[in-house]
Parts: sequence; C-alpha cells; structure tokens
Amino acid sequence: MTITSAAEAIRASGLRVTDSRTAVYGALRSRPHASADEILADVAGDLPHASRQSVYNALNDFADAGLARRIEPAGRSMLFELRVGDNHHHLVCTGCGRVEDVDCAVGHAPCLHPSDGHGFELVSAEVTYWGRCADCAAASRVS
Ligand SMILES: [Zn+2]
Ligand SMILES: [Zn+2]
Repeated sequence: MTITSAAEAIRASGLRVTDSRTAVYGALRSRPHASADEILADVAGDLPHASRQSVYNALNDFADAGLARRIEPAGRSMLFELRVGDNHHHLVCTGCGRVEDVDCAVGHAPCLHPSDGHGFELVSAEVTYWGRCADCAAASRVS
C-alpha cells in the first residue's frame, strides 16, 4: 500500500486542501476512532488557532466526501476513522471506551443478509459489539 500524503488524499476526494484539513487528516491517520476533541488536541500544536468547530467541519467534510467514516456508539461522542468502504464493525469497551476494528461477522464483507430485508436495497451494515476489553475485565477480577 502506498502512503499518499494528506494533501493528495484530500484532493483525490474532491475537497480543497486547507491547512486545517491537512492537519486533521494527519491526526486521524495516527489515531483511528478519534473524537473531534481528541483530534483538536492533536492538531493544537500545528494549528494553534484551530477551533472545535473547524475540526468538526473538516471531519464532516471528510465523511461526506467518503474519505472518513463516522461511527456513533450509542451514548458516546461521535468518532471518526479513515478506514472506509469495507463495512467493518466495532468492538466498544463499556469500561474504558477502547474501540477495536473487527471484520465482518459472517465471513465475507459486507454482511448484508438480515433475516428480513423488507425489500430494501442494502448498501451497508453497522454492528457494534459492546462489552469489556481484556484489560478492564482483568482489572475487575483483581479488585
Ligand atoms: Zn476497557
Ligand atoms: Zn474502525
């Protein structure tokens, strides 16, 4: 896999390349499943004037352009990731909030076979598995 620069990836998705988009893309690349607040903290060094809103705007632009994917675990802040188009799912720890990628549950992605599709033409499916990560499960056994 070739590593395209942030600017190339942004341009390829049809968006105009700006400093904030470039910084946000770079931060997202090094931190999968990041919230806007985490990205804002990461880009603060490069973009001292970045606001939460500007980071949000960049993330939403990426998501709308298909460059990033939004994931919205119930009751948690929205997270963004650059791994798009493969219909993967997520494991979310209810203890520490850790998020892990998991490939399709039933072999071949996308797993688009609900027991009753109600006539829909399906394009994607999202599954969130909730539970405790190994660290949290171990910690609760010790205490
Ligand atoms: Zn955990
Ligand atoms: Zn993911």
